[in-house]
Amino acid sequence: MMLKVNNLTKQYKDFKAVNSISFDVNAGDYVAIIGPSGSGKTTLLSLLTGLISPSSGEILYDNKKLSHLSRSALAKLRARDLGMIFQFSELVPNLTIEENILLPVIFTRKFSEEEYHRKCEFLLERLDMKDIRHALPRELSGGQIQKAAIARSLINDPPILVADEPSGDLDPENSNLVQMLFMDYNKMGLTILLVTHDMNLAFDAKTIYEMKNGSFNQVIKS
Ligand code: ADP
Ligand code: MG
Repeated sequence: MMLKVNNLTKQYKDFKAVNSISFDVNAGDYVAIIGPSGSGKTTLLSLLTGLISPSSGEILYDNKKLSHLSRSALAKLRARDLGMIFQFSELVPNLTIEENILLPVIFTRKFSEEEYHRKCEFLLERLDMKDIRHALPRELSGGQIQKAAIARSLINDPPILVADEPSGDLDPENSNLVQMLFMDYNKMGLTILLVTHDMNLAFDAKTIYEMKNGSFNQVIKS
C-alpha cells in the first residue's frame, strides 16, 4: 500500500468541494480521475500533496498520516517522493528551461551529477525539448512550459507522480509524447495519479474514477 485516503472531506463554508472520498493507490498503479469542472479534482490533489489541509478524514503515505508529518518531513516527502504537476504550471522566469527542469535537485540530491545530466537529456529528448533547453520561460508557449514542468516533476525519479491535467495545454502530438513517457515510467514502477480530460491518458490508466460534486460517483474501470 502506498497511498490510502479515508473519508476525505474539504469544506468551504457550507460547501463540500471534496465530500468523503476513500480510495487506495498501490505501488505501480495508474489511476486517472475524470469529471466536470468544479467537481473538486484540483482540491483533491491539493489535499493529497499537502498544499491544503482537509476538514476531516485522513491521507496516509506508506501508513504514515500526512497530517502528522512535521514541516520538514512534509517538505522531504514533496521533494523526494512526490512528483507534482500543477494545472497551471509555473517556471522560475529567470532560469532557462534546462535549469528549471534541474531545479528540484537543489532541494534533494538523490543522484550523482552525471546521473542528473543523463536524466535531463533523456527527458529533453523524450519531450522534444532539446532545441529549447536554453530558452527562458517567457520565450515559450504554454504547452512548452507544461512539458518543462512535466520533466521537472520526473527529474528526481519520484515513486509517485500526482498530476493535474498535465496535457491540458498540449496539442495531440505533444500529448502523445507525454502519454508514451508516462506509460514507460509506469512500466518501470512509477505510481501515477492524474486528473485529466485527455481520454488517451485516461484510458492508459488501470483505474478510472469519475468525480462529481466532490465524490467519486462511479468506477469506470477497475
Ligand atoms: P475542478 O478541479 O474539478 O475543476 P476544484 O477543485 O478547482 O474543481 O473546485 C471545486 C469547487 O470548490 C469549485 O466549486 C470551487 O469554486 C470550489 N473551491 C475551490 N477552492 C476554493 C476555495 N479556496 N474557497 C472556496 N471555494 C473553493
Ligand atoms: Mg481543476
